[in-house]
Amino acid sequence: MLSAATTSVSRRLLGRLRDVMAGGGRAQERLDKVVTLIAADMVAEVCSCYVMRAGEVLELFATEGLRKDAVHMTRLRVGEGLVGDVAAHARPLALADAQSHPHFAFRPETGEEIFHSLMGVPIIRGSRVVGVLVVQNRTMRHYTDEEIETLETVAMVLAELVASGELVDKAELMPVDGNALLPLRIEGLRLNGGVGVGVAVLHRPRITIRRLVAEDPDIELERLRKALAGIKMALEELFSRPEMRDGEHRDVLETYRMFTEDKGWLNKISEAIRTGLTAEAAVQKVHDDTRARMSQITDPYLRERMHDFEDLANRLLQFLSDEGEDGDLPRADLPEAAILIGRNMGPMELFDYDPKRLRGLVLEEGSATAHVAIVARALDIPVVGRVKDVLDKIEPLDPVICDGDNGQVFIRPPEDIRESFIDALSQRQLRKEVYARLRDLPAVTSEGKGVAIAIHMNAGLLLDLQHLHDSGCDGIGLYRTELPFMARSSLPDVAAQTLLYRKILDQAEGKPVVFRTLDVGGDKVLPYWNPYDEDNPALGWRSIRITLDRPAVMRHQLRALLRAAAGRELSVMFPMIAEVAELVQARRILDLELNHERQMGNDLPSRVKVGTMLEVPALALQLDALLPLVDFVSVGTNDLLQFMFAVDRGNPRISERYDPLAPTMIRFMRYVGAKCRDYGVPLSVCGEMAGRPLEAMALIGVGIRSLSVSAPAIGPVKTMVRSLDLPALESYMLTLLDSPDHSLRGKLNAFARDHGVAL
Ligand code: PEP
Ligand code: MG
Repeated sequence: MLSAATTSVSRRLLGRLRDVMAGGGRAQERLDKVVTLIAADMVAEVCSCYVMRAGEVLELFATEGLRKDAVHMTRLRVGEGLVGDVAAHARPLALADAQSHPHFAFRPETGEEIFHSLMGVPIIRGSRVVGVLVVQNRTMRHYTDEEIETLETVAMVLAELVASGELVDKAELMPVDGNALLPLRIEGLRLNGGVGVGVAVLHRPRITIRRLVAEDPDIELERLRKALAGIKMALEELFSRPEMRDGEHRDVLETYRMFTEDKGWLNKISEAIRTGLTAEAAVQKVHDDTRARMSQITDPYLRERMHDFEDLANRLLQFLSDEGEDGDLPRADLPEAAILIGRNMGPMELFDYDPKRLRGLVLEEGSATAHVAIVARALDIPVVGRVKDVLDKIEPLDPVICDGDNGQVFIRPPEDIRESFIDALSQRQLRKEVYARLRDLPAVTSEGKGVAIAIHMNAGLLLDLQHLHDSGCDGIGLYRTELPFMARSSLPDVAAQTLLYRKILDQAEGKPVVFRTLDVGGDKVLPYWNPYDEDNPALGWRSIRITLDRPAVMRHQLRALLRAAAGRELSVMFPMIAEVAELVQARRILDLELNHERQMGNDLPSRVKVGTMLEVPALALQLDALLPLVDFVSVGTNDLLQFMFAVDRGNPRISERYDPLAPTMIRFMRYVGAKCRDYGVPLSVCGEMAGRPLEAMALIGVGIRSLSVSAPAIGPVKTMVRSLDLPALESYMLTLLDSPDHSLRGKLNAFARDHGVAL
């Protein structure tokens, strides 16, 4: 908390600054007066203001106390000297003995050698450092936290002057990009598939704060209270909407609601108000501090949570700046086909836009577990994340293509590219209609009586379940239970899990669902578990290894599954089993839970089927021991490929190096298929490979009869199956098995072409 004395000092200083700023005259003159005022008020011999110039150089723009001829002469690179250090880290620095600091860079022209202590704060505008404000004293002065806070508040007022373009051209404050108006293709990260063609809408162009300094903090605190109440009401309204009744996006917003009550954050804003800022300036200040410091945070979970605060801050600013005006959020004028471009977004912000007009979302940051990505998936909006500096390269209403499938964005695309995407989109729409018509037709191969191929769906969110019925698939072959775990801020308890699994089974309406137990680690990091630093996370402590080492987690999950499936059939599948002993251990835990439920007198499932994933090649050499112990097996080709070829599936440089259609892989599948048939154990394939028609054809050609694929792949795979002459394929594939080729792709494609297989 700031002491009353400091608060009134800085309020007095802010009042004077306001008079200088409003006083007119040249910007340089105003800046000169400002540094004099600050030095006097803070009892410092020196106050200097450095402004960021093109090329990331900080130039001394005004000083009280240093030699005047150094003004506009002294320049420091970002990172150079203490001033450069403040700018580089966007954080304040207070040193009683500045000259002994290793980063001290002596500039003789300034005459600063006689000043021992130094306090510097960044001048931040948006998320950019646009300058540095420094005070210095001859003595070894220990600057207090309150003094740092005061200087930061002053720096915020100065930020407006720097950003006004009166001191340096506004363009200098922007990162340079010579190609700004040329067509651009930028790669990012696929956060949600699909393609959108539209025009750029920049997410929340900056709100200009007109009033920075306030006379009466009580009035400002009341304004803040009202704005918060307004946000809470808006949240309640959102919760009452039918589409918000359940699903992970509701969880996300529940977490968000908790943020509106976060004491630490609210206190920071209130303190800033007490120093003399208006409510909106205080929100902006805390917001800017958070954003600037965010770049220091590497923990992805924390970064995401910061964005929730950011969303909240934006919303508060909107409320505070709309006060007295009846205008609702200016989203009504959204173009017919809009691609939203933003740095990042909170989960609630997406609801500000009409989803029918949103064709895509492009973010400079974001990750697959970002809350906004989860909500976007629910709304079926393609998302590309981690698109570097996209906001600096795009103008409002620029044509944009958001290619979520390939994680790329085209800005101002040439007409031919635009047309080809529009063509692809309408093709996609046509195909969707064709697939919809296929819904009730069986997936049977085309020859004579034909062979039935089971097509199941992979799912991971409640929202996916709608496709279970509209796609006409046979059931859920893989339910990835970790996704809901990842969207929450803590481990869900048994009751919460039971509720979720029960909903899944209810919505499946009797179609089978295979629940895979928690498969985290590797690239799937749970926000509330500290990931260990591992050199090879894909080969590390993940999946069944974690749940066997933390049996309570496994027990709770299994208990919830047993309860959810009371009176119905339950299928449980364990991931990443590498040796039979692991399966035996997992099964024992399941038996313990079954007994526990029995003793508690709880209803049990009518039947419990236990299966394993086959993702680690070593397990394939243990099938004689394994198969008598399981009710089914499902091959996870994503991990299998990675382990078979020792190729990290998350490393874009090599992840495509080996083809799932390599003869080795196909021979492997044939071997496993034959073994499972010998033991009468149902086998299915649930990796991404199964969802690509050509790959699915190859799998069927070597004896696989059950596939589990993502919802959009169901139609294409069924179409392929229905056009396939299986005996012809089987005899052709026999000739390929011993091929020394890198891949069978070319030959299989040729077969499909020659035999009219619809790929
Ligand atoms: C796989 O590895 O193929 C699989 C289905 O599991 P996941 O992609 O979830 O690791
Ligand atoms: Mg896997």
